[in-house]
Amino acid sequence: ASAALPRIGLAGLAVMGQNLALNIAEKGFPISVYNRTTSKVDETLHRAHEEGQLPLFGHYTPRDFVLSIQRPRSVVILVKAGSPVDQTIAALSDHMEPGDCIIDGGNEWYENTERRIQEAAHNGILYLGMGVSGGEEGARQGPSLMPGGSYEGYSNIKDILEKVAAQVEDGPCVTYIGEGGSGNFVKMVHNGIEYGDMQLISEAYDVLKHVGGLSNEELGEIFAEWNRGELESFLIEITSDIFRVKDELAEGDLVDKILDKTGMKGTGKWTVQQAAELSVAAPTIAASLDCRYLSGLKEERESATEVLKEAGLKEEVGSVAHGIDKRRLIDDVRQALYASKICSYAQGMNLLRAKSVEKGWNLNFGELARIWKGGCIIRAVFLDRIKKAYQRNPNLASLVVDPEFAREMVQRQAAWRRVVGLAISAGISTPGMCASLAYFDTYRRARLPANLVQAQRDLFGAHTYERIDHPGSFHTEWTKLA
Ligand code: NAP
Repeated sequence: ASAALPRIGLAGLAVMGQNLALNIAEKGFPISVYNRTTSKVDETLHRAHEEGQLPLFGHYTPRDFVLSIQRPRSVVILVKAGSPVDQTIAALSDHMEPGDCIIDGGNEWYENTERRIQEAAHNGILYLGMGVSGGEEGARQGPSLMPGGSYEGYSNIKDILEKVAAQVEDGPCVTYIGEGGSGNFVKMVHNGIEYGDMQLISEAYDVLKHVGGLSNEELGEIFAEWNRGELESFLIEITSDIFRVKDELAEGDLVDKILDKTGMKGTGKWTVQQAAELSVAAPTIAASLDCRYLSGLKEERESATEVLKEAGLKEEVGSVAHGIDKRRLIDDVRQALYASKICSYAQGMNLLRAKSVEKGWNLNFGELARIWKGGCIIRAVFLDRIKKAYQRNPNLASLVVDPEFAREMVQRQAAWRRVVGLAISAGISTPGMCASLAYFDTYRRARLPANLVQAQRDLFGAHTYERIDHPGSFHTEWTKLA
């Protein structure tokens, strides 16, 4: 009889949970579901019926829910991150037994997962923190899954995860990430990279619109064209679609009516905080976060426009835009976007490497790039090239020095500099592209002006300096010599 019981259950039936549960059931794995507010259980049962009599079973108490699952039980939790996860674990774990496994699929802070792994271990319960990317659609059709924590817990549901995840030509978009909170950490950096991609795309739009004078219709066509080349990706594709949508409430295009104030949930901020903690430069991701903060200052920006005379700026734009070769600008912006994106991914990957070393996670960067090829928000053809770069050299110091990426960066630098230069002269801010270019220019220079910073530090604080010609550390009485 026990063979008929589900092996897996899912608690938390909001957007993500409901869709992931239906996906699991559709792939042929019977599943038990539960939600604190029971109307969502009924809603999910209704959908399971409507979407093809899927093998999904609703339960109304934590006890009935847990006991309906075959041992060793695998229980996925998809509730709001933070204390709701602790509360849900408390409600469920009373009924769970040694060898059972809890899998938190939320956007959780990785240290919370590490704490819960320890707590669960006291009761012999296995624990996974699993990043899930792809939003509502991904959860239902096939997400990218980033499970980290108990390898045994992962092995128990490997077959389910591999069927449920998005499928690309080199396999399902799931792999065991590593121990501890590595799955959550990788998902967090994925989101930071996503911030960077979105910011860079918005800058490309800004330059094409304000310097190139492109209409929304033209922008829709350009992004569609880009989506057939090296930039092919989910975010470029949806951007092209966005430009085609008419406003339903008034004349014109919807994109022009949207308030220019960005929301955020915190994973981008965590990424930048972690980069700082680990002394890893991530300027493109940080610039994207800063732009979200500045976008929030709508009223201040409106007053600043008055004080700082946007009218003057419009003349700047006009003179820069005058006589511009549109076709060439479009091609330059495409190249600037691509090169900026490589720098942003290099930063994200280097952050992951620093954390992997600190925690001993032994992350496989080629595999991470591979599982991001499908299902998730940053899915892109270009990730296959990143996968190959790390396969060629797992110890790659930076993506920008991989021979193939290095060649592409060098080929694109002239266009990249033209775009950034034009934007600067026109007064159109491109913080992401500028941050990427400055990162590239700083990283590729054998000698930086850091010698002067060291001299200053030694002068005012006797912090000492090293020399280029003699080993050891030196201090100079600068003011006596000056
Ligand atoms: P959500 O809005 O983050 O959370 C709603 C769910 O949490 C409901 O099931 C709710 O139960 C439950 N909940 C809240 N407080 C609770 C408590 N104290 N005790 C028990 N349950 C509680 O849902 P979501 O958007 O589906 O996201 C779930 C997780 O996935 C989050 O960590 C989110 O960051 C992550 N995620 C979301 C997306 C996305 O596109 N939405 C993408 C990737 C990852 P009630 O119905 O009883 O209130």
